[in-house]
Amino acid sequence: MTRVLKFGGAGLRDGAAVQRSAELVAREAARGRVLVVVSAQEGVTVRLAEAVQAAVRGDLEPWNGLRVRHRTVLTQLGLEGDLLDRHLFELRAILAEIGTQGRAERRMSDFVLSFGERMSARVMAAVLRRLGLSASPLDAYDLGLTTASKRGEAALLSPPTAALRRALEAVPGVAVVTGFLALDSAGHLTTLGRNGSDLSAVWFGEAVGAEEVVLWKTVDGFRTADPHVVANTRRLAALGRDEAIEFAVNGAAILHAGALEPAARANLTVRVTDVRDPDGPGTRIDDRSAVDGPLGLAHRESVALWHETLSLGRDLGEQVAEVAAQLEPERLAFQGHELCALVSDDKRVAALAESRAPRARLERGLASIAVVGRGVGEDTELAERVSAIARSHGIELAPVPGGQNPSSLAYLLPRPALATVLQALHDVLFGGAETLVPQPRPESSAART
Ligand code: ASP
Ligand code: MG
Repeated sequence: MTRVLKFGGAGLRDGAAVQRSAELVAREAARGRVLVVVSAQEGVTVRLAEAVQAAVRGDLEPWNGLRVRHRTVLTQLGLEGDLLDRHLFELRAILAEIGTQGRAERRMSDFVLSFGERMSARVMAAVLRRLGLSASPLDAYDLGLTTASKRGEAALLSPPTAALRRALEAVPGVAVVTGFLALDSAGHLTTLGRNGSDLSAVWFGEAVGAEEVVLWKTVDGFRTADPHVVANTRRLAALGRDEAIEFAVNGAAILHAGALEPAARANLTVRVTDVRDPDGPGTRIDDRSAVDGPLGLAHRESVALWHETLSLGRDLGEQVAEVAAQLEPERLAFQGHELCALVSDDKRVAALAESRAPRARLERGLASIAVVGRGVGEDTELAERVSAIARSHGIELAPVPGGQNPSSLAYLLPRPALATVLQALHDVLFGGAETLVPQPRPESSAART
């Protein structure tokens, strides 16, 4: 049985990080067959996206930065300096072509983005070979990873085929596959959205019937809350797929939410673990959570609510689809002709709201919080308790539109209150430090739906 090992950008940040990750692969490969999936080096995908924008203006300078970055890693690793030249020069030619055209179609920009993972796979395979393993870099799109949809929505991956499984089994030694990349239904290279390599890894796990997919990151797993915002958080040893999905869709950026879809299809165990602590237990994502009740808190720091009155004369579904396509909302609900969407609070959305006024109205300055755990969405007593905790800090929580789910309770609140309310909820629900003293309801509530 194969184990899939996926390395995120942080685990490939520089020469030392790549070396450490490769040594981990060698260690695991000594125990059984492994399939490796890699992201681009940390920050490279963002740099490539910037390089596209600059190329449209005829500026190829960002390419230089990318070249130096990759060359430096090769030097740090003591690999041949020209290992990535073919890719780097092809990348330069594409950027120049974008400059000539003065614009970058999605196909072109996806092509540019693909170089991060493609170069990463070459570097990892070269280090593995130096460690004495036989290893081959492979591009996922050559292996038939096909999405049914446009970029970023690639949770709609077609299930892997038996032919793919055979192709992977035929690879001698360790296959090092690019994450994040696929073909669209028309056969063009496409990308799977931020953190898309998680999705690739689980999809390949499904393809080879893996016993486990390990996502090596620079976090030690899921925690009771984001440790950057909340004190005294604890690592969760295990959780169910439904709860992992709720953490992800409510803003805990640990894992690509879509990754759990192939995991569910193939009933795969996924483990999130820390490259810096290879023997640490991490968090195991099982079919189903072993415990009921609250597991942790997820949050989004900056969200807005979009309200729109849809036209009476036009097809409702068509209008909803149009708004959804433009807004890319986190959540969406509608009642009668009133549509309400949870969106990110940014300039693009604000400009869109202005262009669709007065039908559309944007309520800005919000944050969202979710209590995640098996069955919490149906626990009215818990919901009252959560509201009372917030109220004791003068905050009235409002429900997230379209946020109902058996494994989460999701709320909106004014952004400035986020840290206080998160900590208070954490202390009461997971810290056991404070007892709850409910206080009278405040005069006004800032977050309304
Ligand atoms: N390189 C892509 C990103 O930075 C995909 C991934 O890392 O999973 O989002
Ligand atoms: Mg990443």
